[in-house]
Amino acid sequence: MAGEPQDDCLFCKIVAGHVPATIVRETETTVAFRDINPQAPTHVLVIPKAHYENAAALAAGAPELAADVLREAQSVADEDKLESYRIVFNTGAGAGQTVWHAHAHVLGGRGLQWPPG
Ligand code: C5P
Repeated sequence: MAGEPQDDCLFCKIVAGHVPATIVRETETTVAFRDINPQAPTHVLVIPKAHYENAAALAAGAPELAADVLREAQSVADEDKLESYRIVFNTGAGAGQTVWHAHAHVLGGRGLQWPPG
């Protein structure tokens, strides 16, 4: 069921504390942790604690929670004093999504090119 923890989901395991992560922020509804394979000096993932498979499912199923994720992404940028940054939701395999639990990448601390690859 949408929102319920999934046994085979890596990010649900991070939420449960069963897989280690470098957590930088946590709220009642979200967790933010450093990406294990950083693509920029700041590369933090912000996830809802509840399981939604991607941003589309999150926005449709729990818009308030989607707003929490965005607010937290902004707080990460503020905490790292990023003047310019990018918030990315890879959605679907063709866009590079590899973990099927909604997450916002917060990337900054270096120049970012446009369009992305
Ligand atoms: O958007 P995408 O689904 O590809 O992003 C998944 C991200 O999760 C990757 O950037 C990957 O480095 C990160 N990851 C992580 N910790 C893990 C496994 C994956 O930060 N244990």
